[in-house]
Amino acid sequence: MRVAVFSARDYDRDFLEKANEATGGRHLIQFFEIRLGRESARLAAGCDAVCAFVNDQLGREVLELLAGQGIRLVALRSAGFNNVDLEAARDLGIAVARVPAYSPDAVAEHTVAMMLALDRNIHKAYVRVREGNFALEGLLGFNLRGRTVGIVGTGAIGLCVARIMRGFGCEVIAADPAPNDDLDAMGGRYVAMPELLAASDIVSLHCPLTPQTHHLIDHDAVARMKHGAMLINTSRGGVVDTRALIAGLKSGRIGNLGLDVYEEEADLFFENLSDRMIQDDVFARLLTFPNVLVTGHQAFFTHEAMTAIAETTMRNVSAFEETGSPVHPVSVERLA
Ligand code: NAD
Repeated sequence: MRVAVFSARDYDRDFLEKANEATGGRHLIQFFEIRLGRESARLAAGCDAVCAFVNDQLGREVLELLAGQGIRLVALRSAGFNNVDLEAARDLGIAVARVPAYSPDAVAEHTVAMMLALDRNIHKAYVRVREGNFALEGLLGFNLRGRTVGIVGTGAIGLCVARIMRGFGCEVIAADPAPNDDLDAMGGRYVAMPELLAASDIVSLHCPLTPQTHHLIDHDAVARMKHGAMLINTSRGGVVDTRALIAGLKSGRIGNLGLDVYEEEADLFFENLSDRMIQDDVFARLLTFPNVLVTGHQAFFTHEAMTAIAETTMRNVSAFEETGSPVHPVSVERLA
């Protein structure tokens, strides 16, 4: 297969080339640093498949352009697929593949790293100590043991976070329309979302972005949270209404906020913009709060996860070439 890889950074190239070498160099891969969208879609001309990441745009118009050039497979290098118009893909006869659960531990461990950093003010201490300031004022944290952690979405990643937090001696409660017995087995329990928000010292989001979960954490949800609670989002930016979070931070309702994803991240993340002005005023406001920690969609970024993503992507492409169906298809029919 001839595969056009979009949003390709050096690390994507390294891991994908290695995975392709393991197949005996079976596929011909072209790398493009540019994001996939209306303007860049023509770069895939002559290819059979495109390989896309979280901020590549695969709406109907782009899929039509790709189909017109003979693209038959979209191989996502992600678990989430909210950036693909699956109905349009079906109409155009384009198969869509993803990489489910490539390393739930990677995302879960980053989630917990954010909790610990915010709780113990590691981000502030790092800067202070380098400036010779060893005062402890402003660094007071709280013990995790005995705290209540509310997990929204107990799929692969949410369950992993639940397991780690149980290890810390936390009470774990969760909300998910599809409950999993594994949560009960580890001593967690399911509650309704309003109860989760009211009872949790830490709320951690692990549901996919769907029309149902869009702005799940809005002004109303923030108002239901415990005063001073911590909120962590490593799922997708659109699951929270960022303006509602800013209001919650200003009122003190949200005591700490950790974000690895942001609704408008496509114009910011994965780029080095250090010599440019941030044009997004909402994002810029977020960065003014001392109790906010933002990472640029890096929760997945471990050696193990990148290896798994590249290997599964190559398996999807190879299976599609052999059978006409990738190993991990995603389609409107399957979702229904
Ligand atoms: P998963 O499919 O295994 O689990 C998602 C869970 O969310 C399911 O159990 C589902 O029933 C539940 N859910 C759906 N709607 C819900 C709702 N309204 N309320 C509560 N729960 C709901 O997915 P996963 O592998 O655990 O990944 C979760 C999400 O994490 C992905 O969809 C993706 O958006 C995000 N993610 C982020 C990164 C990162 O680097 N930051 C990496 C991988 C995945």
